[in-house]
Amino acid sequence: MSAPNRSIMWFRRDLRISDHPALLAAIESGDEIVPVFILDKKLIDIAGSKRLAYLGQSLRSLDESLNNSLHVMIGDHIEVLRELMARYNATSVHVSTEFEPYGAARDAKVEAAGIPLIRTGSPYAVAPGRVLKPSDSTPYKVYTPYYRAWCLHGWRKPALKPQAIKTVTPGANDRNFPDWPTPENAVITPAGEKAAVQRWKYFQANGLDSYDEGRNLAGIDGTSKLSAHLKWGEIHPRTLLASLGESKAHDTFRKEIAWREFYADVLFNNPHTDKNYYSAKFAEMRYDKPDKKFEAWKVGETGYPFVDAAMRQLLREGWMHNRTRMVVASFLVKDLHLEWQLGALHFEEHLVDFDVASNAHGWQWTAGSGTDASPYYRVFNPIEQGKRFDENGDYIRRYVPELEHLSASEIHEPWLFLNGYSNGYSERIVDHATERLESLARLQEIKADKPQDPRA
Ligand SMILES: Cc1cc2nc3c(=O)[nH]c(=O)nc-3n(C[C@H](O)[C@H](O)[C@H](O)COP(=O)(O)OP(=O)(O)OC[C@H]3O[C@@H](n4cnc5c(N)ncnc54)[C@H](O)[C@@H]3O)c2cc1C
Repeated sequence: MSAPNRSIMWFRRDLRISDHPALLAAIESGDEIVPVFILDKKLIDIAGSKRLAYLGQSLRSLDESLNNSLHVMIGDHIEVLRELMARYNATSVHVSTEFEPYGAARDAKVEAAGIPLIRTGSPYAVAPGRVLKPSDSTPYKVYTPYYRAWCLHGWRKPALKPQAIKTVTPGANDRNFPDWPTPENAVITPAGEKAAVQRWKYFQANGLDSYDEGRNLAGIDGTSKLSAHLKWGEIHPRTLLASLGESKAHDTFRKEIAWREFYADVLFNNPHTDKNYYSAKFAEMRYDKPDKKFEAWKVGETGYPFVDAAMRQLLREGWMHNRTRMVVASFLVKDLHLEWQLGALHFEEHLVDFDVASNAHGWQWTAGSGTDASPYYRVFNPIEQGKRFDENGDYIRRYVPELEHLSASEIHEPWLFLNGYSNGYSERIVDHATERLESLARLQEIKADKPQDPRA
């Protein structure tokens, strides 16, 4: 009998078995697969405890789907892959294509070391770099025309779930599942493919049809909360897109999925914008140095209830509502006059759904320095935003117990009421109206009312 033909399936941001073209390719290419996840010290060092706890759970869930055959390895990627190839006599290594700067560079290094990767599929419905302007074949810099072209380009149907997955049996030393506990006082969303599918079904039944209205209300469960599942590839965006219809609510949801794809495309075409200004002019703006006001922002003690609720939500859940991500980002850049990268780093540490493209460009959009950015002179008013998108104060009450005793008409401006501070809530660290004017004055100095193309 001849030796079995084996291939390695190297999982990274694709921790699922359904709708997984690379896994299907690995299965088809041999008799048995060697499923592996390599713990990456560099990525572990920058991830906070909530994201690590989530990843640990997600790996357990993937392992269950693979009948306990997942190899969880520690060490250098190249050495681990070489050792597994030699040990199992494996002839190929299958992956989903990575496009963001770190993953793409890591894969290039692995290939340069003589390990060819077979790339099938990616974490996107349409891979970055694919959607180009028909007029001159250059990438889009503005979302709306990108969205139209992205829809025209279209995407494949979800791939079939494999009927059977034949795997090798890992040895005792191959099962290095990390023991990362969920931190005390944190409540993170359940991880794994099963949880992702369950949440998607729940959202289809309870939120999708009213998504266009519900998505902005911070106090309700009105969004899909699929971002962490998408980040880790526990569900593919193609699976979501395949169930959408043509209603306004469904179209709005499709547009949000497209924002994720647009930002991945922008980062792919401008890899320096993970840390640097997309619009270079904004690097010249006058910014303050981080001080104790920055510390107050991080822990949710700015004295602005909507901002503080959001920052505490981030610390507790590793997730924050999109509306409040914009509000707290605007507060950091335009009320505290700090550079967006400081806020992005704090998000990077705490978000379970941290995604380098969506985070950097979400921040740059709010800061005014990104592609199709919100104009710098649009300064979010943290009080009015709260009144509008958390009318009854439910969101604030959930995260800021010092304000629980206030009514809907009091909770957004505790400083106006005698008992506003009776439970120890913080005083405002800045005056929004004053800082708004300061921010506009600084803008005037660089006269950058429009984002500029760094390559222009
Ligand atoms: C400053 C800032 C930082 C952000 N950082 C991240 C990040 O690190 N990771 C991340 O996944 N998203 C990030 N976002 C985008 C957005 O806030 C989250 O994707 C969204 O809140 C996740 O919740 P949800 O899954 O319920 O979203 P839904 O409203 O249900 O949307 C469905 C999916 O569409 C995508 N999406 C929605 N809005 C956006 C958007 N504005 N940009 C890109 N994709 C979007 C996400 O994948 C999301 O899961 C950031 C936004 C801002 C303003």
